[in-house]
Amino acid sequence: MAEALKMDEARKRYEFKKTLEKLESQEGDGTELITLYIPPDKQIYDVTGQLKDEYGQCANIKSKQTRTNVQSAISSILSRLKYYKKSPEHGMAVFCGTIKLYGDRTDLQCTIIEPPEPLNLYMYRCSSKFELDPLKQMLEEKSIYGLIVLDRREAYWGFLRGNRIEPIGGATSTVPGKQRKGGQSAARFGRLREIAINEFYTKVGERASAIFLAEKDFFERFKGVLIGGPSPTKEEFEAGGYLNHEIQKRIIGLFDVAYTNEDGLPELVDAAKDALSGMEVIKEKAIMDRFLKELVKDNGLAAYGEESIRKNLELGAVDILLLSSNLRKSRLKIKCQSCDYVDKRTVSIETGKTTKDIELGNCPKCTAPLVLEEETDIVDELTKFADQSSAKVELISDDFEEGSILFSAFGGIAAILRYRTGY
Ligand code: ZN
Repeated sequence: MAEALKMDEARKRYEFKKTLEKLESQEGDGTELITLYIPPDKQIYDVTGQLKDEYGQCANIKSKQTRTNVQSAISSILSRLKYYKKSPEHGMAVFCGTIKLYGDRTDLQCTIIEPPEPLNLYMYRCSSKFELDPLKQMLEEKSIYGLIVLDRREAYWGFLRGNRIEPIGGATSTVPGKQRKGGQSAARFGRLREIAINEFYTKVGERASAIFLAEKDFFERFKGVLIGGPSPTKEEFEAGGYLNHEIQKRIIGLFDVAYTNEDGLPELVDAAKDALSGMEVIKEKAIMDRFLKELVKDNGLAAYGEESIRKNLELGAVDILLLSSNLRKSRLKIKCQSCDYVDKRTVSIETGKTTKDIELGNCPKCTAPLVLEEETDIVDELTKFADQSSAKVELISDDFEEGSILFSAFGGIAAILRYRTGY
C-alpha cells in the first residue's frame, strides 16, 4: 500500500490507538479471550508448544461453551503462527477469542499486532477482556520536558508530555518583602533576605530535580527543562546551579512569564514556542492557533464541518486540512442490490459496533435493499482526497486545549483555505 509508506508518526499513532480502543471495547462471555505476547527473542515453537498444552488443559473447563470457544481460539492462533518462522523485530501481540457483538451475535476474531516498540514480556492469558496495558504504555509520550516557573515568593513545576501539560506541585517561600520592619538594620535585613532566597531556591531546585529524575527512562526521554519567571529571578536561579547537575545541564532556556503558580506552566510553554519548534505539540498548536486566528478575522479562510470541507477539497481550495485524532467515523460506499443507484455516507462507529450493525435502508429509486460496497476510515478517505489537490494534512491530537476544541466545536474536521470560496 503506497499510502502506508507516507504515514507519519502522528498517523501511525492514530492507527495504533484506534486498534487498542477497539480491542479494549471487546468482551467475551466467559474467560475465553486469549492474550498472547511474544517477545522478539522467543522461539515460535516454544509458543506453539505451550499453546498445545493449554489446549489439552481446556478439558478442565466446566462450561462447554467456554471450553469450545477457548479451543477454537487456540486453534486459530496456532494456524496463524504457522506463517511465522520467528518472532518479528519487535515481537508480536495476539488477541483472539469469541467476541460478543451488538445484539446476541458473537464472532471469533483474531488480531495480530506488531508493536511500534519491542515487547519485553512473554504472556499467555485467558480472560473475559484482552490484556492491553503493555501496549498502552507504548502510547505514552516519548519526549518529556520539565517545566519550572518561579519568583522569590513562589514556584511551581510540572511536565510537558507531548501536548499535555501536567502540573505537579509548588512551593512558597518565607522570604520577607522588601520593606524591613522598624529597628532592623538595613545590612542585617538584606543578609537575612539573601539567606531566605537562597534557601527557597535550594528547596525548589531539590524538589523539582527529584520529580524530574524519578521519571521513568529519564535519560532517554527527558529532553530538557524550561524555566520561566520574572527577571532577575530566573537568571539568578539558573546561575546559582540549584538544580541537580543532570537537570541543570539540560536547561533549554529562560523565558519571561507573569504567573509563577500553576497558571504559569501553559504561559511558559507558550513563551518557549520557538525553542520547542521541532516538537509535534508546538507544530499542532501553531496550526490550531492559525486556524482560530483566521476564524476570528472572518475572512473566509477558515472552514469547518465535513460538508464544507468536502466542497473546498473538491475545489482544490484547501491549504491545510485539520483532522482530529479523536475522529471515529467511516465513509461508506453504498449501492443498490438491483439497480445502478449508489450513495456515500459518513457514519460514526460506536464502541462495540461495526458497520454491519448499521441499517442501510432501501433504494430510493427501486426500493430494493441497499448494500455496503466499501468502508473507509474517514481520516484515510479525507487524506486521500486532500492528496489529490496537494493539500497538507495535519492530524491534531486532543490532549491540549485547542486540539480538543477542534473536536468538540468543529466536529473534528476543519481547514485553512488558500482562497475564500464561500463554502
Ligand atoms: Zn435500486
